[in-house]
Amino acid sequence: MQQRVYPQQWQNQHIYPSLDSCVLEADMSLARASLAELSGFIEGLAGVQGNQPARQDFLREVRLRARRIREIGWNIAVLAACTGSQDARDPLAKQLASRARALNADLFKTLAPIEDLMLGLPEAEFEQLMQDPLLGEEEYRLRHERRLQDQRLPVEAEQLVIGLGTDGLHAWGNLYNDLVGKIRLVIDGREMGLAEASNLLSSPDGALRKEAFDAISAGWEGEQETVAAILNALNGWRLELSRQRGKVRTLDALDLSCHQSHIERATLDTLMQETWQARHLGQRALGLMARRLGIEELGPEDLFAPPPASSHRSIPFEEAIEIIALAFTGFDPEMGEFARMMAERGWIDAAPTPNRRTGAYCTKFADPVEPRVFITYAGTMDNVITLAHELGHAWHNWLIRDLPMSQRSYPMTLAETASIFAETLVRSALFEQAQSAEERQAIAWAEADGAATFLVNIPARFDFEQALVAEREQGYVSSARLKALTDEAWGRWYEESLGRYHPMFWAAKAHFSIAGFGFYNYPYLFGYLFSLGVYQQLISRQAAGEQDVAQAYRALLRDTGRMSAEELVVKHLGQDIREAAFWQGSLALVAAAVDRFEQTLS
Ligand SMILES: [Zn+2]
Repeated sequence: MQQRVYPQQWQNQHIYPSLDSCVLEADMSLARASLAELSGFIEGLAGVQGNQPARQDFLREVRLRARRIREIGWNIAVLAACTGSQDARDPLAKQLASRARALNADLFKTLAPIEDLMLGLPEAEFEQLMQDPLLGEEEYRLRHERRLQDQRLPVEAEQLVIGLGTDGLHAWGNLYNDLVGKIRLVIDGREMGLAEASNLLSSPDGALRKEAFDAISAGWEGEQETVAAILNALNGWRLELSRQRGKVRTLDALDLSCHQSHIERATLDTLMQETWQARHLGQRALGLMARRLGIEELGPEDLFAPPPASSHRSIPFEEAIEIIALAFTGFDPEMGEFARMMAERGWIDAAPTPNRRTGAYCTKFADPVEPRVFITYAGTMDNVITLAHELGHAWHNWLIRDLPMSQRSYPMTLAETASIFAETLVRSALFEQAQSAEERQAIAWAEADGAATFLVNIPARFDFEQALVAEREQGYVSSARLKALTDEAWGRWYEESLGRYHPMFWAAKAHFSIAGFGFYNYPYLFGYLFSLGVYQQLISRQAAGEQDVAQAYRALLRDTGRMSAEELVVKHLGQDIREAAFWQGSLALVAAAVDRFEQTLS
């Protein structure tokens, strides 16, 4: 059979022909003009107070006008980000991204009085408005936000927070990103940036890994006062804002994070307790990896080491798509067809380009709703798994494309369900088809590596974040204290499984310096264990001959933007994630994976 050749560069011309096209400029001008009109229109809000039907019409009109502005802003922001990923130095992409960001921020500022009204309405009036089909589209989001109604500031203050955030909170996050781009290191006699240096951490050569690790640590050491200032500013900002908001009811930083994650505090507590009980599983995986590497004492420089003597056969892009499509098809034939369609339509950007960003991600346009995947594909088995991960996100986004915009955004905790589910499908297919013991070991290695990352490294980050927030509340946290807090957190979770810890991790890990989120790490742990739990249940139902399991999975994904994680699991799996049993089921799968890895070693 003739294998077809897929485009490996995004085909986005039907969104806009180019970043400097006049169609794009015309849309941007239209959005700006519509926003100015909307702003004037909203001033009429006071005039319809007390008149229920008039107010309902008024709110419908606001929704329709805002939707178009949001779609334009979103499409332009995504296109700019996509272009910026292909070439991080593209000046037009940078400029356009900042214009789209400003448009979005201005839209939210303009809508603040409407948001204020919707969140503050008495229940009976709110209930009545939600009967309107258009307004009711937003019911879940608004109900969710109404739970924090007592945390709202007066509308002018809310607008001020959004406005000052651009050059305040978000500027600190941007400063961190600038540092990442600026730091230069010399490794193995060559000068390089952090992205290239980080790649060396997965070199098979232990001495090179150590040299890269030491250089990266020293690079961050040189910027430690700046990063300390960033962490203090971000956390100080959040604490002050919650002090201002918490005059009626005090919520701590974790309460707010759980709200943002659409989970209850009880769920997070159970998740962390069960993970604490299971930390030895991650530590055991590390011990086995050390044994296989022939290293007496594992150091932080070895955490990304590849399995030794793994096959270096390069897998062509077309073959990778076929591997993934076949694995998906085993579970849901439409999901397999979808993976091929993504490649056929040029919705995956995979070919290396100069000044390309590192990492991989999935994003989506707002109109038409189409997913896009970014990856730098070099033919390794790791690349195939990463591609499966991103195509899992894309499938999720594709399944919800017909839903109203507010129901298409789901929290981080649920975002990783589809991606890790897709990875798991591909991994287990590969494991079954593996031709040699070596191939099986490479796959089992990746699973063990996951256990170590999710059950030890991520919880250590969470532990550190908690300590940081608690100390920040008392005052400025010095770089020396940040190192000490990191060491303590790593000591609690890694214990003896590492010979040394990573005192500069607080600076080296970008996740602590993201402006938009505090506690950016536990959602990954949640996603990992949650997805394994979903996988286990659905695959065993399918194995038992149940017919509509693929449909059940699609239905679950479709609800991720319109119910909380707890409601989702009750509805689709009949379980309670506030209880330990759900998480113990997932952890049993991790234990089996670590056992499987051990067996490949003997
Ligand atoms: Zn992901």
